[in-house]
Amino acid sequence: MRALTVVPRSPGSLAVTDVDEPVPADGELLVDGLAVGVCGTDREIAAGEYGWAPPGRERLVLGHESLGRVRSAPDGSGFAPGDLVVGVVRRPDPEPCGACARGQFDMCRNGEYTERGIKSIDGFASERWTVETDYAVRLDPSLEDVGMLLEPTTVVAKAWEQIELVGQRAWFEPKVALVTGAGPIGLLAAMIGVQRGLEVHVLDRVPDGPKPQLVADLGAEYHTEPVANVAGALRPDIVIEATGANQVVLDALSATGSYGVTCLTGVTSAGRRLEFDAGALNREIVLENDAVIGSVNANLTHYRTGAESLSRADTSWLARIVTDRVPLEDAATAFVGDTGGIKTILEL
Ligand SMILES: [Zn+2]
Ligand SMILES: [Zn+2]
Repeated sequence: MRALTVVPRSPGSLAVTDVDEPVPADGELLVDGLAVGVCGTDREIAAGEYGWAPPGRERLVLGHESLGRVRSAPDGSGFAPGDLVVGVVRRPDPEPCGACARGQFDMCRNGEYTERGIKSIDGFASERWTVETDYAVRLDPSLEDVGMLLEPTTVVAKAWEQIELVGQRAWFEPKVALVTGAGPIGLLAAMIGVQRGLEVHVLDRVPDGPKPQLVADLGAEYHTEPVANVAGALRPDIVIEATGANQVVLDALSATGSYGVTCLTGVTSAGRRLEFDAGALNREIVLENDAVIGSVNANLTHYRTGAESLSRADTSWLARIVTDRVPLEDAATAFVGDTGGIKTILEL
C-alpha cells in the first residue's frame, strides 16, 4: 500500500512510497485511512529538523492528525466496521513515569514517550493503519469530512482544561478571552471559548481571506491591531497564545486583566532575541496574581472532550478551516510553505 514516509533528519527525503500492509495484533483495529491533517510539526519533520524512525527502520510513516474508518474490530471491543475513528498520537513511556502511569502521558516527565508519525512509531498517512482499541476514539458520523481536526482540537481542549484548573486556585468567573492567532489552533480555541459561554476575541495580522468571517461566524470578534492595544481595551481574563511569534508571545504575557491566565500553545524555535522590560513584566504578573502556563499534546480525556466539542460545532464551519485538500500522491505540494490557506489535509 502507499504511504507518506520520510527519513527523519534527512531533508528532501519526504516521498510517497510502498510499505507493507499493516496486520492488526490482538486488541487492534484495522482502519482504512480517510485523511490526515498536515501541521507545522509535519513540515519540520519533512525539513529534517527532527523525528525518529521506528527502531531498526530507516523511514517513518508521517501523519499524526488522523481520520479513518474501521475495517475490522476485535469482538467485544465496542468498535464495529464502518465506525469513524481517530488514533491517539502519544503512547506512555515504557518505564513509566508517575504521570504516564496515571494516564497523563501528555504530562510525561522523562520524555521517553513515543508518538505516532513523530517519534519511533509509524503515523497515519497511509492507505490503511492499525491502532490499539484503547487508543482509538470514535467520532460522530457527521464528522466524516472534518474529523481530522480532532487532534488539533484535543490540544486546545487540554489548554482550556488547564486554564480552568489554574483559575480554580481562587474565585474564577472568566468573561472575556483573547486568542492570538487565527490558524487552526487559534480558531478551534476560539470555538471552544464560545461553547463555554465566553466573549471571545481573536487577533491575527491577516486583514482578509477566510479568517475574519470564520471568527465572525463563531460569534466572536476579529482584531488586527497590535496585542497591547487590543488587550489594553479588553483586559481579558484569559489569553490563549497560538501564534508562537516572539513579539506576540511576549506581549501576551502581560495582556490579561487582574488574575488573568495566559496559556501558551505555540512552539517556537530558539535563537531569536528580543529586548524587553523584564521588570515591568514581572511587576504586572506579580501585582495582578497572573498565571502563565504552557500546554502541549493531549491525553485520552482531551480526545473525549475534543470529540464532544467537534460534535457540538457547525460542521460546515469546521469544513471551512480545511482550505486545502490534497491527494496522497501529491503530498509534496502540501509541504511547500504558505498557500494563504488555513489547514491543509491529505486525502488517503
Ligand atoms: Zn499537528
Ligand atoms: Zn512518562
